[in-house]
Amino acid sequence: MSELNIKFGDNQRSIPAPATVADAIKAFDRDGLKKALAAKVNGEELDLNRELTATDEVLSIEPIIADSHDGLELIRHSTAHLLAAAILDLFPGTKLGVGPALMEDPRYGFYYDVIAPRNLTEEDLPVIEKKMKSMAKQNLVYRRELVDKARILDIFKERDEPLKCELITDKVTDSATLYYIDNSPFIDFCLGPHVPHTGKLQAFKLLALSGAYWKGDAEREQMQRIYGTAFAKQEELDAWLKQREEAEKRDHRKLGKQLDLFSIDDDYGQGLILWHPKGGIIRNEMERLLKEELERRGYSFVFTPHIAKRDLWVKSGHEGNYSDSMYAPTSIEDEEYRLKPMNCPFHIGIYKSSPRSYRDLPQRYSEMGTVYRAELSGTLHGLMRVRGFSVDDAHLFVRPDQVHTEVADCLDFAIKVFETYGFDKVKFELSVRGGAENKGYLGSDEDWADAEKQLASALEERNITYERIEGEAAFYGPKIDIKIEDAIGRVWQLGTIQLDFNLPERFELEYTGDDNQKHRPFMIHRALFGSIERFFGVLIEHYAGAFPLWLAPVQVTVLPITDRINDYAEQVAADLRAAGFRVESNTISDKIGAKIRDAQMQKIPYMLVLGDKELEDGTVAVRERKQGDIGVMTLNEFKEKIAVEKSAAVSRTGY
Ligand SMILES: [Zn+2]
Ligand SMILES: [Zn+2]
Repeated sequence: MSELNIKFGDNQRSIPAPATVADAIKAFDRDGLKKALAAKVNGEELDLNRELTATDEVLSIEPIIADSHDGLELIRHSTAHLLAAAILDLFPGTKLGVGPALMEDPRYGFYYDVIAPRNLTEEDLPVIEKKMKSMAKQNLVYRRELVDKARILDIFKERDEPLKCELITDKVTDSATLYYIDNSPFIDFCLGPHVPHTGKLQAFKLLALSGAYWKGDAEREQMQRIYGTAFAKQEELDAWLKQREEAEKRDHRKLGKQLDLFSIDDDYGQGLILWHPKGGIIRNEMERLLKEELERRGYSFVFTPHIAKRDLWVKSGHEGNYSDSMYAPTSIEDEEYRLKPMNCPFHIGIYKSSPRSYRDLPQRYSEMGTVYRAELSGTLHGLMRVRGFSVDDAHLFVRPDQVHTEVADCLDFAIKVFETYGFDKVKFELSVRGGAENKGYLGSDEDWADAEKQLASALEERNITYERIEGEAAFYGPKIDIKIEDAIGRVWQLGTIQLDFNLPERFELEYTGDDNQKHRPFMIHRALFGSIERFFGVLIEHYAGAFPLWLAPVQVTVLPITDRINDYAEQVAADLRAAGFRVESNTISDKIGAKIRDAQMQKIPYMLVLGDKELEDGTVAVRERKQGDIGVMTLNEFKEKIAVEKSAAVSRTGY
């Protein structure tokens, strides 16, 4: 009798062959099988009902459970199949495109692209979802079949699925797998694996419907994309939906309009941001704080052009590796130029403009550098994903022995800055070499080992708990990613502190050491916010548009109850302006209730309601936007109060 040698965790034993993946798991962990959705067998993801045949090899089996990243991806992908199956059942003749799981998109968990016999509408989504739920209850099995190419093409031709045929023609060489859902008209061409049956799909919801093109190509078939999400448990889905509802209220595109902060106009171009005066005030405050801190930490300020010769981008490697994200070249007097997607080569140009000695290092160049990226229109999203943006960029040129202190200073800088904005949860991830994939890492082993050690020790010295991610480093050096958690628990990836062994080589950067020999400096790219546009978007959503006093475009609005008080109102406003506050006075003849409502809509921190009594006593009645009425005080008392509040907010970082 032939046997299978199975390794499961630390245990190893033999079971009779053939056996399914589920049998193998059951031999070790009968209860655990209930949790398994599929398994990794020697690293390859397989369905539970896949048959294992005897070989001399020891098979190591690791169940994929719902409460893991892989498990969630499996659930979402399998739910996309269920969605397609429900649509085929309800709308026979529907042509299917593709249906991937989405693991990085905060809005959706999966989609399926379809061309239905009639245009689907939002009203169809609950009907489709209901069908999915009833199919889920029936525990319908996901069945796999290995078929040769000619046969697959026949099957999909017969089903009149031209898009699937095109995919198969493109992708399949000799054979591939089909997946069925039992008792449903659905067949898909897919690698798998999937959950064993639809009963494992307990918590899903359809969310939206949008247009899409086959293969993202506007010249090709127009399709409809149905978005949904799925989780392992209903509680998780409920919590996510609640957060989504909260996020919708905070949507920066909606608030950007309501608060008159910025706009995007198709006449100027998608993904290009027009900052309005009120958004400009906030940006100015952000930049002012940043500049003060940069100055304090010994950075220099540099300014560089938005465009450079194409040859420069060839030399920097951007032309080779990054060309898809760059705007097409433009010519001046037979020389080609390209808009900059990054600032780095310009700062290198400044470094190279003079010979450098070890005593000159570190050189720290900072710039609010505007860059341009040719993002596809379908990926653009408000301020979060744009085609032109400014980076709070800096490049540090340092000696190897300075890496540690410089990185440590970047960490302190980051923590301080994010605290100012009320982000108390800052997360750090250290990406290092390793993992299965060899990315063709540049630089010597010693340089890597040393650099990784210096980054890790800078984190550890600060008692920063961080996640170490093997294999996530760029091919040109290790990095620290900075992430923050916002007011409703969403995590945003912002800046990075990135070591670079590549550009100093390509540009042959040098300094003269104390040994009088030429040495190559280390280069550190660092940005805290990353894109200032995106960070602004994050801030709008984090504060739900109610900016703290120091950032608020209008800090105080003066609201006279009747026109008789207008002169006093103007006088109060002028007094506050002279004290350095941003003040508006609303002297339009309108009811006080309407004036207060309007100020609340604008999320202005303080409203001063002035009537005859206040005029007579020379006082102000103060309303705070969240607490409401907080009492009557003299103007001086009020000024003192807001001065304290303003400085307390920024003094957290010592500004
Ligand atoms: Zn699939
Ligand atoms: Zn850079």
